[in-house]
Amino acid sequence: MATAFDAPELASLKRLLVTAHHILDNEGIFDGYGHISVRVPGDGAFLTLARVSPRLVREDTLILLGLDGTYLGGAQPAPFEWPIHAEILRARPDVQCVAHTHSRWSAVFSVLPVPLRPVHQYAAFLPTMGVPVYRGAGLVTTPEQGAALAATLGTEAAALLRHHGDVVVGSSVEETVIRTLRLAWNGQIQHLALQHGEPDYLGAEECAAFTAAARDIGRAWSYYLSRLPEGRRGGHGRDDSVVPSSS
Ligand SMILES: [Zn+2]
Repeated sequence: MATAFDAPELASLKRLLVTAHHILDNEGIFDGYGHISVRVPGDGAFLTLARVSPRLVREDTLILLGLDGTYLGGAQPAPFEWPIHAEILRARPDVQCVAHTHSRWSAVFSVLPVPLRPVHQYAAFLPTMGVPVYRGAGLVTTPEQGAALAATLGTEAAALLRHHGDVVVGSSVEETVIRTLRLAWNGQIQHLALQHGEPDYLGAEECAAFTAAARDIGRAWSYYLSRLPEGRRGGHGRDDSVVPSSS
């Protein structure tokens, strides 16, 4: 029996998902479109945003869907591009969260002959030879299109969608949001660096060195949380998620 939308065990996950949408909106990544999903552990289901703008997200604008798109509860209708989430979560058991945005930095590199490659330590999680690009035209509205996008993503943490945006995945909601912000950060820095010539890209060993030394993401999460207006922190206080860090 699948977990019900109103089940108490989903309450904290819903609050976290609402806050995640607010952060990507507040940082200028989302516009009127885009959505984040989170897997419901063990259920073959996920929570995401119903067909409303991310800025208008609340716990009662979330929807619970099965990986086959079956409606399981919450607000309706489902977002047009629900198969992005369903098919990536189906293909990637290691992934707990998927973000889909129309970030301008991802859109730029989705149409350039230059691949989006890591040029900053924050983006050491990206593939050194470039983020893969899904080339299908139109919105991703069918399981077949979602599966093709999941195949393009492969085992990577991010993929670009040509003329469209990106998908970013992670092992938690917090990691996925921070990765989405860092993908945009890297795109902006790479774009600026390209104005002056060929950037000195990070190599695989250098990425590994930065990844090995990576700080926990709690500090980054609490930073972006603190930038949210009062009332948009999903019940979190300004500092209540700060994770002490030695670095
Ligand atoms: Zn889209």
